[in-house]
Amino acid sequence: MLNVLLPGGERRTVPAGRSLSAVASDLRAALPSEPVAARAGGRLVDLFETLPDGAEVSFVLPSEPDGLEILRHSSSHIMAEAVIRLFPGARTGVGPAIENGFYYDFDLPRALTPEDLPKIEEEMRRIVEARRPFVREEVLKAEAVRRMEAKGQTFKIELISGIPDPSVSLYGQGGFTDLCRGPHLPHTGRLAAFKLQRVSGAYWKGDARGKPLQRIYGTSFYSKDELDRHLALLVEAEKRDHRRVGVELDLFSFKEESPGCAFWHPKGTFVYNRMVDYLRGVLDEAGYQEVRTPTILDDTLWARSGHLDNYRENMFFTAAGGSEILLSDRRAVETDARGYCLRLDPEAAKRFLGEPRTYAVKPMNCPGAILLYQSKVRSYRELPLRLAEFGHCHRSELSGVLHGLFRVRAFTQDDAHIFCAPEQVEAEISAFLVLLRKVYARFGFHEVRIELSTKPDKSIGEDALWARAEAALRSALSASGMPFGIQPGGGAFYGPKIDFHVKDALGRSWQCGTVQLDFALPERFDLEYVPAEGLRPRPVMIHRAILGSLERFIGILVEHTGGDLPLWLAPLQARVASLTEKEEARTREVFAALRAAGVRVDLDVRGEKMGAKVRDATLAKIPFFLVVGAREAKDGTVSVRDRKTGKSEPSALGAFVERLRSLEGSAPGAENAAGGSLPPPSKGG
Ligand SMILES: [Zn+2]
Ligand SMILES: [Zn+2]
Repeated sequence: MLNVLLPGGERRTVPAGRSLSAVASDLRAALPSEPVAARAGGRLVDLFETLPDGAEVSFVLPSEPDGLEILRHSSSHIMAEAVIRLFPGARTGVGPAIENGFYYDFDLPRALTPEDLPKIEEEMRRIVEARRPFVREEVLKAEAVRRMEAKGQTFKIELISGIPDPSVSLYGQGGFTDLCRGPHLPHTGRLAAFKLQRVSGAYWKGDARGKPLQRIYGTSFYSKDELDRHLALLVEAEKRDHRRVGVELDLFSFKEESPGCAFWHPKGTFVYNRMVDYLRGVLDEAGYQEVRTPTILDDTLWARSGHLDNYRENMFFTAAGGSEILLSDRRAVETDARGYCLRLDPEAAKRFLGEPRTYAVKPMNCPGAILLYQSKVRSYRELPLRLAEFGHCHRSELSGVLHGLFRVRAFTQDDAHIFCAPEQVEAEISAFLVLLRKVYARFGFHEVRIELSTKPDKSIGEDALWARAEAALRSALSASGMPFGIQPGGGAFYGPKIDFHVKDALGRSWQCGTVQLDFALPERFDLEYVPAEGLRPRPVMIHRAILGSLERFIGILVEHTGGDLPLWLAPLQARVASLTEKEEARTREVFAALRAAGVRVDLDVRGEKMGAKVRDATLAKIPFFLVVGAREAKDGTVSVRDRKTGKSEPSALGAFVERLRSLEGSAPGAENAAGGSLPPPSKGG
């Protein structure tokens, strides 16, 4: 018999000795949709498999993440077959499912153009219509090599030779056979909707010294509706791309001289500072103390913290005195024809510096916080000690992965380290959850997905400590009433953690916050505190961030709102414009009055037509556009145009300021709750 676990949690036993697809069709009435694969013994299996007596099985449905991944991976096989049909002799690299789609790498006789994609799609449709089963074959490696040789698939031969097992699995659908672990769709007909999106360059095995290949990206779904929705979302995301909107709003830019490090323009700096001001306020209320630690710290510190062993590739290093040597002792350096430094003479460097030291540019703030903790003997009375730092960190990311504000080399974390006694952990986590929810709401994020990651296979610290820490995290989460998922074994080697993902207006999920317990660093740095009585215990160190990186969070916020930042963060809240030259004096008075009232406002008294002035204000996404015409100048009012509704109405100046204030602050985050749309004007306005 097989034991089948149904999606609702019900268990059924069914006769063994038949394929899983036969079992699935018997259970059709109990399954909400047609499965695409199954799970057994902790792995995914194809539906054509027949499992041994006593096996525990559950089916993978199209609606599950595994189901989507299988569809997309199978799509890449179908695309590869289509490409080989169109380009005989094409060699295939690898073709995995990725987030939101799939790709396959090819070595082709010529460069692909965008016009090739519809032709490949056409060919894929033929394969889909043929409803060909994916067939698995387990063969000895020599046999697999022979078959790949016959097809000229030399990359696959290289992959086979790298597999330690004596045999490998091949999957074929019609005319195409691939080396693959599987599983795949039962047949090609299950691929209901797909779209090839773009071609880019890639290298064999991702190595820039390797063979250059062409990578075709695509996406696929189980229904055309889902595909259409996804493609519409991409169009909307493209419109909201923070790299473009950020330039349009004059927030920031990037320069070749410092790749991956943003230059913050005045408006962007305003947003950045305003966020920091807000956070300072709530951190202060929550009992944090702000600190600042150096950006460069001796690399022996990073050796002790373990970063040199585990994180070196992501770190920048700096040698003290390099440029002074260049200036003071020309003989100490070897220079090129332009006089640029090529190499320092180590002896000369030593002479100049006394003792040469290398420093690491901090990729994290933790070791700095630890040195600060150690600057005096700590008593239990000081705990929990909550040290917050807007820590400016640098990480050496490959230039190929840099992406606007989302993937940068320099960023500021809204970091904090809480040193506390083990019995204080739960209360600290509970307080953090309250703080986190409050901050997210202020920025207009109300949906938060939470994941608790528990002890991984490789870990340090006693089991009892882990059990206690995990129980504390779980209990704090349960008490908060916020639903959470569990990632078994997903914790860091040094402690369990909770990650927080916010959902944006386009339904995309972004991991921002994190809270991690750490038993390792207190051990490595021999941290302790003086207890009320007895031996000196170690504090637990809690690393936590709410927004993550300010840079990345601003990028997320810009895309979430499409650039219509919440009123309290908007660098400009209003623009006041004159209808004609005659009202210029009165317009200037209104501008001055608004500024005096603390409104962030600018002035447009150009001799342009009103249409042009409105358009410019709209493009700059200024929330309110105030016009002073003859009537307004006479009766002392302004005409207020709300960018969101496009409607204008007369208002007394004082009433406008009051309305602005209430929109800004009285309902934290509410002004932006509906994905960046402002609520209709309040009645009092
Ligand atoms: Zn495959
Ligand atoms: Zn830390």
